[in-house]
Amino acid sequence: MTATASIEFSVTPSTNRRSEEDRAKILANPGFGVNFSDHMVGIDWSVDLGWHNARVQPYGPLSLDPACSVLHYAQEIFEGLKAYRHADGSVWAFRPQANAARMQRSAERLALPPLPEAEFLESIRQLIMVDKDWVPSAPETSLYLRPFTIASERFLGVRAAQKASYYVIASPAGAYFPKGVAPVSIWVSEHYTRAARGGTGAAKCGGNYSASLLPQQEAYKHGCSQVLFLDAVDGTYLEELGGMNLFLVRKDGSLLTPSLTGSILEGVTRDSLIQLAKDQGRVVEERQITLEEVQVGMNNGEIAEAFACGTAAVITPICSIKGKGFVAGRDDAPAGELTMSLRKALTDIQYGRAGDPHGWMMRLA
Ligand SMILES: *Cc1c(COP(=O)(O)O)cnc(C)c1O
Repeated sequence: MTATASIEFSVTPSTNRRSEEDRAKILANPGFGVNFSDHMVGIDWSVDLGWHNARVQPYGPLSLDPACSVLHYAQEIFEGLKAYRHADGSVWAFRPQANAARMQRSAERLALPPLPEAEFLESIRQLIMVDKDWVPSAPETSLYLRPFTIASERFLGVRAAQKASYYVIASPAGAYFPKGVAPVSIWVSEHYTRAARGGTGAAKCGGNYSASLLPQQEAYKHGCSQVLFLDAVDGTYLEELGGMNLFLVRKDGSLLTPSLTGSILEGVTRDSLIQLAKDQGRVVEERQITLEEVQVGMNNGEIAEAFACGTAAVITPICSIKGKGFVAGRDDAPAGELTMSLRKALTDIQYGRAGDPHGWMMRLA
């Protein structure tokens, strides 16, 4: 059961809403992360008052004191989930409780206040209530929801901020693969790691992403679209991509994915795919996987498919994994069969085209 939110949201409607025509134009070709709906949610927090001032307000710039600690010490966390429109017009979120719980874990690691699940879920409901027309209806489109919390206290001292603010913004998202799902090549970073033992790798925080941008540029230089990080201790085991988890499919149809070591982000998509594969009676092994095992396996056929997963792209097939002095797989390899069938199984649930045996969907409007 989900508790009801104990704080009331005030609603200040935008006086500057986009016209139906402008919105339709945007929704016809939304891209990703470039357009935003008419409203946003804000909730403030302070040591004295706890969470307060919950509100739906017009989307617009924040006014921040230049000394607030998010700008200096990156005390920030975020989430990413989607609102899906079903054929009957209703709007649904996929496992938002999992995002709420993860955001609480991220908050704890970054010494930010955890937002209770009920308030997290209510914040999303409130935003959809005013901006539900921003949820597109074309196939594979969605309204991407981005909750985030920042340390907003004006103070340059290095300690956990005593003031923070939580926001939710919403961005219509087009189909991730408008021309059909295309496999990508992945570059294994030799020098850079994403997350250290005891670091913030398991938390969804902006700092992890800023540390991944330079290695990502390195991947581009090698003709790859994403970077794959190895563990920071031995540089031997696969961890994950900059923003997606990794799966391998063996030729016997079993799956293999790096175990959660504390430096890997626990993806909701990862967890859901493990469940769906197990529902199909497949073996899913979560363990440490060496890069060498993947190099050998992708070239001798023991590993038949590879894919990355996350909320934005759901599943991205991987055709080849490259690094200094090696290539595993082939650039012209097609998307794997199981890769694509898992992608379909998950998106069918998300878009209401299939039953929801695990009760993953939550109606928003
Ligand atoms: C968000 C994220 C993922 C994917 O998580 P989902 O819940 O499946 O979207 C994977 N890795 C990193 C580093 C992430 O930030």
